[in-house]
Amino acid sequence: MANVRVAVRVRPLSKRETKEGGRIIVEVDGKVAKIRNLKVDNRPDGFGDSREKVVAFGFDYCYWSVNPEDPQYASQDMVFQDLGTEVLSGAAKGYNICLFAYGQTGSGKTYTMLGTPGLFIREEDSAPLPSSCRIKVSFLEIYNERVRDLLKQSDQKKSYTLRVREHPEMGPYVQGEPLWSWRSETKLNSGKCWISNNKWKRQSCPHRQAILENNLPSEIASKINLVDLAGSERADPSYCKDRITEGANINKSLVTLGIVISTLAQNSQAFSSCQSLSSAASDGGDSGIPSSPSGTSSGAGPSRKQSYIPYRDSVLTWLLKDSLGGNSKTIMVATVSPSHTCYSETMSTLRYASNAK
Ligand code: ADP
Ligand code: MG
Repeated sequence: MANVRVAVRVRPLSKRETKEGGRIIVEVDGKVAKIRNLKVDNRPDGFGDSREKVVAFGFDYCYWSVNPEDPQYASQDMVFQDLGTEVLSGAAKGYNICLFAYGQTGSGKTYTMLGTPGLFIREEDSAPLPSSCRIKVSFLEIYNERVRDLLKQSDQKKSYTLRVREHPEMGPYVQGEPLWSWRSETKLNSGKCWISNNKWKRQSCPHRQAILENNLPSEIASKINLVDLAGSERADPSYCKDRITEGANINKSLVTLGIVISTLAQNSQAFSSCQSLSSAASDGGDSGIPSSPSGTSSGAGPSRKQSYIPYRDSVLTWLLKDSLGGNSKTIMVATVSPSHTCYSETMSTLRYASNAK
């Protein structure tokens, strides 16, 4: 997909993984992340392929955050220097930005977004924000397709009541959701609220999850969406099938996000192949380019159909409609455990992330 950057981040072995004898099976070599399958040489019958199977995936960034003593260790700050700066400079140019953290539960999504200090909760302000701007911030949780305002302190159970609406010009929005706002003349981090132990407090505030509105001299408006996704295992029907506990159901927003991103990627491929097809049309049009997934008439490229994008199938994708595709940039940070005990989830996270491109 055009305008998509994908990063992978490998966290340290957890205490539990260390206790279970977790062996490190992920490695990072420049922009390539490699995963080894130890199961191949662990066959109890002693037969089979004794070579370790290594699968490599290429990304825009690979971050090795396993051990601070490693020379290639990527700190929060280094991740921010790449991704945070990219987010803010894209927004300052007028792009709507989505930054997603994707990965299994416990792989480091929240740590990367909000950790100590995370990508967007830093006290110091080194961001290339425009010199005059207005910023509005909202902080929402989507749970079972219902929306809750996390800036409002209220009874948790009763608070998932906000509805998504769509304005003909402004696009989708959350009805009744208050926005905190700042002007650049006031210090950005002396706003109304901040995060501590994953709870918002009404005191002073970070400044990143924001809508930028630059009124001078020419107006630029853009949105930055920072999305800490549900654990990737919740997109897998086989994982959820046997679990009857509350919240273990398949996560509709996560599944729909996957469909939306892959449809956008297919459409942008169809668009570029349709361009090369029309330039090849003079030699009979047999350019060997595969037909588009939506299957259109045998005509030449320009009439090639773009697939329908099901933004409205989930609350998350509906809210992000004007920030996915079109005039937008997407950054995905795929977070993974290094341990062999997480092989399947890590493999599927790396596959998902490499398909997002
Ligand atoms: P998730 O949000 O994906 O469920 P968390 O961000 O809560 O996972 O991370 C799980 C645990 O691993 C936390 O204790 C967190 O502090 C730790 N952790 C995650 N990523 C890192 C990292 N890059 N460096 C150090 N600790 C990390
Ligand atoms: Mg989390």
